[in-house]
Amino acid sequence: MHACIVFMLFFLLQGCSDEPEKLQASLNAKGEYIYRLHNEFFFSLPAPEPKLIEPYAWESYHGSLPKVTKEYFRCKGSPLNPVRTANVKEETVRYQDCSGSDKHSLPLKDGKEFIYPVLLDLLNYLQNKTGKRVVITCGHRCPEHNTYSDPTPQNRYSKHMIGAEAAFYVQGLEDKPEQIVNLIIRYYQEAPKYQAMKEYTEFKRYEKMEKTDVQTPPWYNKEIFIKLYKKKEGRDFDNRHPYPYLRVQVRYDWDRKEKVVFDWKQANKNYLRK
Ligand SMILES: [Zn+2]
Repeated sequence: MHACIVFMLFFLLQGCSDEPEKLQASLNAKGEYIYRLHNEFFFSLPAPEPKLIEPYAWESYHGSLPKVTKEYFRCKGSPLNPVRTANVKEETVRYQDCSGSDKHSLPLKDGKEFIYPVLLDLLNYLQNKTGKRVVITCGHRCPEHNTYSDPTPQNRYSKHMIGAEAAFYVQGLEDKPEQIVNLIIRYYQEAPKYQAMKEYTEFKRYEKMEKTDVQTPPWYNKEIFIKLYKKKEGRDFDNRHPYPYLRVQVRYDWDRKEKVVFDWKQANKNYLRK
């Protein structure tokens, strides 16, 4: 019992031996006054307000397939493609392909690469509605690739050269191109911007069959012209696949409110080359 008390005293004395140093330290410490205005305690921060971030263009798209952008419209020409020959007026003409889309741009508008937006909207609509991938076999064609892939005189003024035409099929629905045409027509009936505008929502059939290279009468409204190529029609170099396909041409520029016509200068001078 005594031993216990002795131990406790020993520890207490040990503890006391630090005290004078601590006291000295606190005497040496200098305080500093904090100046505040009356009733002011801390900086007051305004309460944060929750703010929604605007989605980026690629975020507002909720389909499971990659969004169709103008990147898919780049010229399919390649310097690796072999020289093609054709007989024109009993003479053999040789055609060489362009140097590829990494050596030239898309058509330009106001200094930026440009494809008519209605084509992008339509193809994305088709992807969303069908849940299937749209395969663009031919978007922009530079003049060299345009001649290379189809040297016939009818193709000389192709709107592919000005970014106003797309050839495509839908994967998994290759043999149902009529169904795709119906969906395109439905797009015009559903899109709010065309509401109550008959020249857009109602399609007519083009009957001047001698002026076209297809057997099925094309469909058209004010803005676009749709051609359906059957399995053995329209087999140019870009369309060597075995499927029927569609070709959509822009006839009217919604933004500029003017007709879209082929223009030599736009086709040949309005894109950048490396
Ligand atoms: Zn090209």
